[in-house]
Amino acid sequence: MALKDFSTYFETGEFLFKEGDKGDFAYIIESGSVEVSHQSGNRKLVLSKLGEGDLLGEMAVVDKLPRPASAKALEPTRTIAIPVDYITEKIQDADPTVRMILRLIMYRYRDADARLRQVFDGILPIDENMQHSEQPASATGELKSVMAQFLDMQQRISTAVNMPAYQGDGPGGEQTLLNTKILVTQDKSIKSALKDEEFHLCFQPIVELTSEKIVGCEALVRWTDSAGKMIMPTQFIPRAEMTGLIVELGYWIARKACEFQFRLACENKNPLFVSINLSGKQFEDKNLIDSLANIMDETGVVHEQIKFEITESLLMDNPEVAGDALKRLKETGAKLAIDDFGTGYSSFNYLHQFPFDTLKIDRSFVSAMSGNVKSNEIVKSLVHLSHDLGMNVVAEGIESNFEVDMLLQHHTDYGQGFYFSKGVTEEEFVKLLK
Ligand code: C2E
Ligand code: CA
Ligand code: CA
Repeated sequence: MALKDFSTYFETGEFLFKEGDKGDFAYIIESGSVEVSHQSGNRKLVLSKLGEGDLLGEMAVVDKLPRPASAKALEPTRTIAIPVDYITEKIQDADPTVRMILRLIMYRYRDADARLRQVFDGILPIDENMQHSEQPASATGELKSVMAQFLDMQQRISTAVNMPAYQGDGPGGEQTLLNTKILVTQDKSIKSALKDEEFHLCFQPIVELTSEKIVGCEALVRWTDSAGKMIMPTQFIPRAEMTGLIVELGYWIARKACEFQFRLACENKNPLFVSINLSGKQFEDKNLIDSLANIMDETGVVHEQIKFEITESLLMDNPEVAGDALKRLKETGAKLAIDDFGTGYSSFNYLHQFPFDTLKIDRSFVSAMSGNVKSNEIVKSLVHLSHDLGMNVVAEGIESNFEVDMLLQHHTDYGQGFYFSKGVTEEEFVKLLK
């Protein structure tokens, strides 16, 4: 069945479908625009306005329940109509996990949608032209909260869909699928997980390559959910960034990492540095630098023993803002590292403008060294250029003795990776020191 055969045209004002209709087609808008709305008596709630490239009408086609809303062409509109049989066939052939996720999404959408209309039917004033975006001002708290849940749901799905494919993801995208499942089913928000103390930090040693002595560590966040399942940061940091909760989570991480450093320095007389990852979103918080300085003061750490890791993409996205913030962060006395170096597109010409103390070579270069002369040359020149710019170098993701040997040949200062140790608890870290 070729979908191009299902090109459909709608005049201005013509309905693609009405509330209560049976779902026979989903539509992709090729040109024009469509309004999706819910009508109750003479009141209309505009749920969304969709344009070129948007998909609509999929809900009833997938779950076979009556259309939950009406869709009307706002101008001459051309669509590709996807017949229900076509979708049913594809769903039947899909992996059971995909079907399960789809059902769950549908159920939650329907549920949120039903509650939205209930609130709307009960409380909103009569206004023919009321817009989805204009509602918060006039809406009650209840409507706001239902809308917020609805938007949160949309965000979670879009995070899941936009999640980058992981290295080592199987041919069926198993890792991406797993992440999708976690994101969509994660009912608990990061906020309540923080309250319930479900986060903890682990610490991955960073060693001096010549002596293999531990000189510091990187704090890595973990989430153990109420069922006792460990969730890795790649599975929730993107969502925390999207919802803005990374700001609160970021402060929690910074405080815990500083407290850990303080204990190391006092109890173990070991002035090791602790690296803390900062996400780009945290820089949107105007108080970031002052708050981090306060955390360092309140926990009693020597500022120079705290290092903040910032990724290349953060610099590239907004060099002026990042440059200013980094200068101020450096003035607190803390050290700065550029993380995942080599994965973005920044150049050395550009790096010297920022006050970095450390450059972290991304794991992809380190693991490519064994089979690839070019990667070796890249690592070698990265180390030399870093040294010329007054930075020391940490090679990330070291997994073999061979890699250590090569890195030593290139005069790399420090290393981090499973070859030495994975991220461990505080007690295990102290044991490693001994
Ligand atoms: P990252 O900053 O590059 O952290 C290093 C990641 O590489 C960690 O994964 C670490 O466990 C893993 N790793 C270390 N050595 C090896 C190795 O030899 N082989 C392999 N295959 N992997 C190795 P993790 O803990 O899953 O963290 C992933 C990313 O999540 C981090 O990448 C960082 O971007 C983010 N992240 C972790 N903790 C935090 C945090 O506290 N705050 C923020 N904003 N992001 C964090
Ligand atoms: Ca890092
Ligand atoms: Ca890294």
